[in-house]
Amino acid sequence: MTLRIADRWFEWERLADGVTRIWEPHVIRVMQCNIWHVRGRERDLLIDTGMGIASLSDAAKDVFEKPLIAAATHTHLDHIGSLHEFGQRIVHEAEARTLTRPSEDWSMLRADHPVEFIASLESAGYEVDSCFITALPHAKFDLRAFSCPPAPATRLVREGDVIDLGDRVFEVLHLAGHSPGSIGLWEASSRTLFSGDAIYDGPLLDELSGSNIEDYLVTMRRLENLPARVIHAGHDPSFDGARLRQLARQYLDRRG
Ligand SMILES: [Zn+2]
Ligand SMILES: [Zn+2]
Repeated sequence: MTLRIADRWFEWERLADGVTRIWEPHVIRVMQCNIWHVRGRERDLLIDTGMGIASLSDAAKDVFEKPLIAAATHTHLDHIGSLHEFGQRIVHEAEARTLTRPSEDWSMLRADHPVEFIASLESAGYEVDSCFITALPHAKFDLRAFSCPPAPATRLVREGDVIDLGDRVFEVLHLAGHSPGSIGLWEASSRTLFSGDAIYDGPLLDELSGSNIEDYLVTMRRLENLPARVIHAGHDPSFDGARLRQLARQYLDRRG
């Protein structure tokens, strides 16, 4: 397989309310996580960190001006790859252990992964190409031996905890189901939810190892009633409160 070398690994766009979306265009959709940067008065918040294939902190120097708190909405690889690059690392207590273990070599080739893993993505509605990336970050990148260093949390959070940026406050919502320690970060004043993989406008995954449909139903009932105005999710484009209620209702009708 010959892949070209990418000119740059990350793209970004500035949105309203001091929010910047950063993403990895050369990663296939199911693993292409939205990385959210939120400006605060005293410190900024980084929500998820992508695959870790290239250095996020190097690439986003222009975006990261202030001291940064990095929060992982959960510990799937596509969300925590670059977490080790940041000094302050927040995760829900239910997934703390994952971050302390060094990751094993992880292949970018579909053929190297268990059939059940690929099947769970495809049955949810994703296309999974033979390679998970469509370009290389640099010439020496080894498609079969990718790994990322451990990034133990410096702060563990649970439902109701608060992340304070000085002038903006985010409350931790425990939104289990996709994974046991999935969290959303809720800014009540702007009615903004950063939802991670608990909900996004695409095929949801509730049959991965660690997923739990009963927990997911509880999460969806809660999301259906959240007075949100805008949702910035772990994958796919952002959406409004009406779409949130619709997506939650669809899940409840399908799985409830
Ligand atoms: Zn996930
Ligand atoms: Zn994800």
